[in-house]
Amino acid sequence: MFQRVALIGIGLIGSSISHALRRRGLAGSIVGSAKSEATRATALRLGLVERAYASPADAVEGADLVVLCVPLGVYGEIVREIAPHLAPGAILTDVGSVKGAAIRDVAPHVPPGVHFIPGHPIAGTEHSGPEAGFAELFDNRWCVLTPPEGADPRAVARLQRLWQALGSNVELMGAEHHDLVLAITSHVPHLIAYNIVNTAAHLERVTDSEVIKFSAGGFRDFTRIASSDPTMWRDVFLNNKEAVLEMLGRFSEDLTALQRAIRYGDGRTLFELFSAARTVRRGIIQAGQDTAAPDFGRQQAKASAAESSTQP
Ligand code: NAP
Repeated sequence: MFQRVALIGIGLIGSSISHALRRRGLAGSIVGSAKSEATRATALRLGLVERAYASPADAVEGADLVVLCVPLGVYGEIVREIAPHLAPGAILTDVGSVKGAAIRDVAPHVPPGVHFIPGHPIAGTEHSGPEAGFAELFDNRWCVLTPPEGADPRAVARLQRLWQALGSNVELMGAEHHDLVLAITSHVPHLIAYNIVNTAAHLERVTDSEVIKFSAGGFRDFTRIASSDPTMWRDVFLNNKEAVLEMLGRFSEDLTALQRAIRYGDGRTLFELFSAARTVRRGIIQAGQDTAAPDFGRQQAKASAAESSTQP
């Protein structure tokens, strides 16, 4: 589908894109750029890219598809660097978790004739780096594209076909709406996980070893989310401030209602709220976005990661 794909950033998402491109033979060649020598060497060793460049500008030369797979905080500096080297007619896209900020930082620098179409695969794990990727990461997950007004419909359709070939379902929406939806489905849940893990860590009357020993009571599942990459998540919260604060406000109100029900022994309210929440989980399983297995599908993701990381 593309002659030369340039992956700027070869971590979890960049390496998974490479595996998924190779699985279906969708790219003539794949090159990449990463900040550290260690990541570039690993990417070459795993066969994720044919060339690994220190300079993103060198990586994008002659590429008809450029995918930014770096933390949101470095978008501005990278795009300023690559802009003069982008090939006319190329598609420039990204995978960043916040779309308003991606457009704010990238769009002003995109040269005429280059199609900038932001994207966000709603798929991931708590692992990062080039060894974390696997070809099945995007299978049956959603990828949201947020084409700015005036985007070339043929370029949008081409990128849509690519994500479908990578295994995803594709939905188009406005950047602002994406950021609001993701604030409640992804960003606030991560904030809650980070917070509860830190609250437990700061307890004085319960020891650290007790927190770990008895973690299967529920805490364990929050620690998985809270082990996600701190740089990526710092950048998400700095760049989706309004939507996250809006959703946190609603969350706090609902939490206060639960607190009140506990204080006044209102079992009926608690039962009704918990029952409603259980229905949401059933809906997610029915939609194929998770399995009913008690490990929340982690075994499957782990097995796929182990399998693909051993491939050349
Ligand atoms: P990651 O595994 O930490 O990889 C980030 C990559 O970016 C690394 O290869 C890193 O190079 C490179 N990088 C960082 N700063 C750079 C710079 N200044 N110049 C060139 N390369 C640079 O991160 P990820 O999980 O793949 O996330 C990448 C993007 O995907 C983020 O924008 C995130 O919002 C989005 N996303 C993540 C998930 C998820 O679950 N993780 C899901 C959907 C979307 P080094 O290794 O050399 O530092």
